[in-house]
Amino acid sequence: MGGEISLRQGSSVVIIGGGPAGSLFAHFLLKYARQQHLSLKVTIFDHKDFLKKGPPGCNLCAGIIAESLNEKLKKEGIYLPEKRIINRLDGYCLHLKKKAPPLHLTCAENQINCIATVYRGCGPRFSRFPEVISFDDFLLTWAQDMGADWQATSVTGLTLPQYSHHPILVHYGSASSPRTMEADLVVGAFGVNSSLLNRLKQLNFGYRPPRTLVTCQAEFKLGKRAINKLLGNFIHVYMLHTRPFKYATFIPKGDYLALTLIGRHNLEANDLELFLQTEEIEPELLAWIKTPNCRCFPRITISSARHPYYHRLVIIGDASFSRQYKNGLESALVTAQLAAWTAVFKGISQADWRENYHRLARKIIGRDNLYGRWLFHLNNLVCSVPILTDIHFDLASGRPRKNSIQTHRLRSILWNMFTGNIPYRQIFKNLLDLKLQFFIMKESFKYLWRRLIKITINRQSHNQPPE
Ligand SMILES: Cc1cc2nc3c(=O)[nH]c(=O)nc-3n(C[C@H](O)[C@H](O)[C@H](O)COP(=O)(O)OP(=O)(O)OC[C@H]3O[C@@H](n4cnc5c(N)ncnc54)[C@H](O)[C@@H]3O)c2cc1C
Repeated sequence: MGGEISLRQGSSVVIIGGGPAGSLFAHFLLKYARQQHLSLKVTIFDHKDFLKKGPPGCNLCAGIIAESLNEKLKKEGIYLPEKRIINRLDGYCLHLKKKAPPLHLTCAENQINCIATVYRGCGPRFSRFPEVISFDDFLLTWAQDMGADWQATSVTGLTLPQYSHHPILVHYGSASSPRTMEADLVVGAFGVNSSLLNRLKQLNFGYRPPRTLVTCQAEFKLGKRAINKLLGNFIHVYMLHTRPFKYATFIPKGDYLALTLIGRHNLEANDLELFLQTEEIEPELLAWIKTPNCRCFPRITISSARHPYYHRLVIIGDASFSRQYKNGLESALVTAQLAAWTAVFKGISQADWRENYHRLARKIIGRDNLYGRWLFHLNNLVCSVPILTDIHFDLASGRPRKNSIQTHRLRSILWNMFTGNIPYRQIFKNLLDLKLQFFIMKESFKYLWRRLIKITINRQSHNQPPE
């Protein structure tokens, strides 16, 4: 156990950020340390109070819990209590084209019970819930029950050691009462909406934060009945063609309808107003969503960080590796587990992080994102060329051949892309299946042939002289 520099009895571990990455790191670290009869002093720093409503208590996200994340949490004995789950949804509804019928992909056809949604904090501004519903509070409380201590203040900076056997200095507290403590290991789980990203970059140990995109998250209070009437029990994803937007996702969450907007570039406050006037969304739905009850403009990662480690320092979660557009919460768990395993079983020197944590995280998430990027490019292409959209819609909705194996395969590819339940690499491999490609080509030719005949008949009838 342990490399050149390693954790010892009584070592002090500081975790910056009590979001999912930070709390789950504490869980795995304390679990592995117990297995090795190692006693550690773990402190989580986070100024956010997850019991508050609105952005001050929330880690700014849509709150969809992927089935694969749920399974991983259960494996750790972490069962999300029923009262923290806001909705259980039946699947996804994809709107590929304006005014065209949507494509329903259900949990039932994919043998999944349902999709759970949560609030990261205690709900939108001015909302009323009879109980504590925060997902992040649940994980932070779990970490505290495991033995971690929570300090409700923020970390303002770090002083890296001159020699690898020296501790890191952690600076924290308010400007009026700054404080410093020594740590044998520091874990950066501060996400991508933190000023620490740039401060760590300026320490010149090689860290380059991931590239990010400013998105928009808004909550509208419509009431359960109206939401059910408008959207049913489904998450609705719109592929948008009006600039600057790319995707809009509507998620039923109790009395609220959550909207996540992703653009082609950083979104600004007036982009939400622009979106609320778009003609790409059904007017019946737009009529209901006028002024959001709560809104924020969080950053989403679109690449991986570089060199997220140093002697006695490792960066996890969004601030290092996260899956492109999907399951950031699960990436937080994966990176937390890899880093905790490295810290306890391998060591905490640069070389230990590089050969263990970084190598594996890059393989599992970083490289997989390359396939994800290709898949999303392909999806954008299909959605921006009307004839390709029509062909794919017909094939996925089973119009040419109901219940064909290839239709199921195509639907399962779309399902996995939108839920992120399996690695992008696997989805890509499934898409390249020869039988599926042959089916797509054959049905595309048939579709084009039918369209050609229709156009010819129309032309001929136009050219006939009136009787
Ligand atoms: C619009 C949007 C929608 C999303 N929807 C989903 C979804 O539906 N499902 C999903 O799985 N993922 C989703 N994600 C991604 C998900 O939010 C992130 O991947 C996830 O929150 C990353 O967890 P984290 O712990 O790394 O960072 P965060 O959740 O950002 O947590 C970081 C924590 O660090 C704290 N912190 C920051 N700076 C300091 C400091 N200096 N000192 C002390 N503490 C500090 C913060 O207060 C915060 O609590 C979405 C992201 C966006 C932007």
